Amino acid sequence: MKHNQSKLIRTRVPQTPQHEHSSPVFFTSSFTFDNAEDMRAAFADETDANIYSRFSNPTVQEFVDRLCVLENAEAGFATASGMSAVFGSFMALLKKGDHLLSCNSVFGSTHTVVSKYLPKYGIDFSYVSANATAAEWEAAITPNTKMIYLETPTNPGLEVIDIAMVSAIAKKHNVILNVDNCFATPIGQTPIDLGADLVVHSATKWIDGQGRVLGGAIVGRKDLIHDIYLFCRSTGPSLSPFNAWILSKSLETLEVRMERHCSNALYIAEKLQGHPKINFVKYPFLSTHPHNEIAKKQMKNGGGIVCFELNGGLNAGRSFLDNLQMLSLTANLGDTRSIASHPASTTHAKLSEAERQAVGITPGLIRISVGLEHKEDILADIAQALEAC
Ligand SMILES: *Cc1c(COP(=O)(O)O)cnc(C)c1O
Repeated sequence: MKHNQSKLIRTRVPQTPQHEHSSPVFFTSSFTFDNAEDMRAAFADETDANIYSRFSNPTVQEFVDRLCVLENAEAGFATASGMSAVFGSFMALLKKGDHLLSCNSVFGSTHTVVSKYLPKYGIDFSYVSANATAAEWEAAITPNTKMIYLETPTNPGLEVIDIAMVSAIAKKHNVILNVDNCFATPIGQTPIDLGADLVVHSATKWIDGQGRVLGGAIVGRKDLIHDIYLFCRSTGPSLSPFNAWILSKSLETLEVRMERHCSNALYIAEKLQGHPKINFVKYPFLSTHPHNEIAKKQMKNGGGIVCFELNGGLNAGRSFLDNLQMLSLTANLGDTRSIASHPASTTHAKLSEAERQAVGITPGLIRISVGLEHKEDILADIAQALEAC
């Protein structure tokens, strides 16, 4: 098979003697051994036999193997949520005295982990603007920098960071490059092909794509994943087999779903440009996006998220949400149902005005996670809510 999409579809747990076509869910906490010697060898890591589902489980492995196909990764480990993937990738690889260099616009809980919890364990951090040049990234590296962490496109500001540029700097300084690929998904971009060592995912978003389960994964270099595996098998953030089964099935349709999410998103972004109540529309594949060139270079599509800024500010943002009739008001993103959110009054309300400005969250910023409803219905709901606000 030449194409990853075919390989992913045909990657599955070995068939059982029942000859089932669809992969079963392995609901079992532990696995049995035929004799004491097999059991000894498994515990001594001389074989890769399953021992206990906190360590490994065939259904979870199917999900990991499929994600590795899409991301062109050597190995992976699946976790109970995106945040446990982010946290596990930090805690397994960083130690007291190390420094983490991160882009400044990261997911809210990632910001909390980086700025509140890592310092508690003696791990230092600093932030670089998503607009930083290669020289600015390089200048921020310190002798104890061990990892660079990126999110691109960023949530919710949709800034795009040049992965190949940062990866060249990481390689030069022998630093691990860890990329959160939640927004683009492996259908939109494959950071490992651009030089990343690790990719973390919140599978809760586009990978599930239907707002059902939480999940996460870390994929990438085999040696790093082995350390992450050892950390996670002892500390217990493992993904449940049930969630893994849902997410593994979801990967089969990720490509076709993302094609529609992205074409709907581009349509909405283009139609909203120039609207009298909007200051600007932000979408990586619009030529007006400040990082459009980078986006076109490293992404296959612009993703499923569109942002725009209402010229009426904070009150207009709240009124826009109140006037929506079809779009959902919810914290998730990456669902079949289109979702609207107003970061300044919700997810980012606790930041100061200056902190919000630094990551591009202006008072009237609206984030739309474009769903799979007909594009005209999505646009019509946004348009009528704009009229009313
Ligand atoms: C949601 C999200 C996470 C965290 O994932 P959970 O599955 O909610 O723990 C991490 N990064 C990004 C970019 C996200 O959007």
